[in-house]
Amino acid sequence: MSNFICPVCGKPLIIKEKILSCTNKHNFDKAKSGYTNLLMSQQIKAKHHGDDKLMVRSRQAFLNRGYYNPLLSKICDMIKKYVSDGSRILDAGCGECWYTANIYEYLVNNKIKPIISAIDISKDALTAGAKRNKDIELAVASVFKLPVKTNSCDILLSLFAPYCNEEAARVLKKDGVLLRVFPLEKHLLSLKTVVYDQPYENEIEIHTLDGFLLLEKAEIRNKIRLSCNEDIINLFTMTPYYYKTCADDQKKLQALSSLDAETEFGILIYRKL
Ligand SMILES: [Zn+2]
Repeated sequence: MSNFICPVCGKPLIIKEKILSCTNKHNFDKAKSGYTNLLMSQQIKAKHHGDDKLMVRSRQAFLNRGYYNPLLSKICDMIKKYVSDGSRILDAGCGECWYTANIYEYLVNNKIKPIISAIDISKDALTAGAKRNKDIELAVASVFKLPVKTNSCDILLSLFAPYCNEEAARVLKKDGVLLRVFPLEKHLLSLKTVVYDQPYENEIEIHTLDGFLLLEKAEIRNKIRLSCNEDIINLFTMTPYYYKTCADDQKKLQALSSLDAETEFGILIYRKL
């Protein structure tokens, strides 16, 4: 049985080798790499969605270098007490599953075996993500229409992803836990200072959410030293700034061989009321 439901009729999906199908005979092929495309054509607005190959490759290379490990450790620390064997975890907007796979492996190493699935709108991200851990069931889908049953998740993760409160409240069980991570005001400000004449600070997410009680709040602030140009370029390319920046401004980064950058993240944990 799949953790996902049919995006057409909402019935459970059954896995038959390379195909997921519901009792109403709606079929969805598994891609060679292992994810299933559950995105309905009417949800498709642009031909290409989400992070493209270059962005995915840059983020993978950057995250694998360990710069964000302090954030990952803190997330693992904070989420552990809410998870037990068989807990259903959904990562809504998983990207290339660096966090998903690392959180899952941390839990398993701590003798907790959850059932984990993840969705993202980007096929390129999931193609990369599918290689990280075969225990994670993956689907192409939107965070605004999650392909899981109402009241079915124990834990919902939303890490640097677009967030839909209505869907989060729908899919979580009562007392289910929501973990959100987002950049704080000065996150990567020195990187933006190199590129832009007038770098702006990030806007901070609103902490109160309808239908949720805020349980825990943490802020992680670190300085990282990017010690080669490749890391600097990868970091910039993995951010949303990349596509908003003209070629001339992007060139300003080519000359840099090292950069000290501030990383600032907020982590919020909620309980569904
Ligand atoms: Zn169906």
